[in-house]
Amino acid sequence: MSALEQSLPQLKPVERLKAIRAAVTGDLVFTTSFGLEDQVLTHLIAESGIVVNFATLDTGRLFPETYALWRETEARYGLRIAAYFPRHEAVEDYVADQGIDGFYTSLDARKACCHIRKVEPLKRVLKGAAGWITGLRADQSATRGETPFAAWDEGYQLTKFNPLLDWSRVQAAHFAETHRVPVSPLHAKGFLSIGCAPCTRTIAPGEPERAGRWWWEDEAKKECGLHVGPDGRLIRAEASA
Ligand code: SF4
Repeated sequence: MSALEQSLPQLKPVERLKAIRAAVTGDLVFTTSFGLEDQVLTHLIAESGIVVNFATLDTGRLFPETYALWRETEARYGLRIAAYFPRHEAVEDYVADQGIDGFYTSLDARKACCHIRKVEPLKRVLKGAAGWITGLRADQSATRGETPFAAWDEGYQLTKFNPLLDWSRVQAAHFAETHRVPVSPLHAKGFLSIGCAPCTRTIAPGEPERAGRWWWEDEAKKECGLHVGPDGRLIRAEASA
């Protein structure tokens, strides 16, 4: 384990971000999908003044509220968040083959849609980067409990950092409220984990955060391929996925 990895748990998130920036030589990318944790990280990055490339995946199926928050976030922090879109030929072929909402019909069809709209664009986002910052939290699911603050990602050939790993949702919400961080109005309506509109629903009190994503599928198969653990296993898609 590197000195950086050892030091991160003892630091506050903003100090973690500064330490990460100081340690990484080369491009550092932060991927946001405008979920609660991503908005907190955007605030911390902007306030700390560290140089990070902001990027988001516009799948073409996002909520209108997400686009509004994107615009509001850029205005609030004076940022431009780079948008990565799916390859249009791939989307056209998929819709021709599976239908506009073909992802409901089978697990394979859903994974194919996620691959076209998320996984392939993410590869372009991270190409050539040295580090990748995400808003992943350990308590979002059982599998995330084993996730480290920093780890080499063999698939993307970079170091992946999770500076809010040890935060709870309550902490993130409290921080956002205290610092007037813009957050999605969908959270207050029961959407805790927000992704593509047709694949996200509200959750009932007591349900896990991830229950609102791909709810028609077997719980054990909920992943979209964006996060791979140190052992090479897929980690369930995060709130920001
Ligand atoms: S979350 Fe749904 S709409 Fe979005 S890429 Fe995956 S299957 Fe397609």
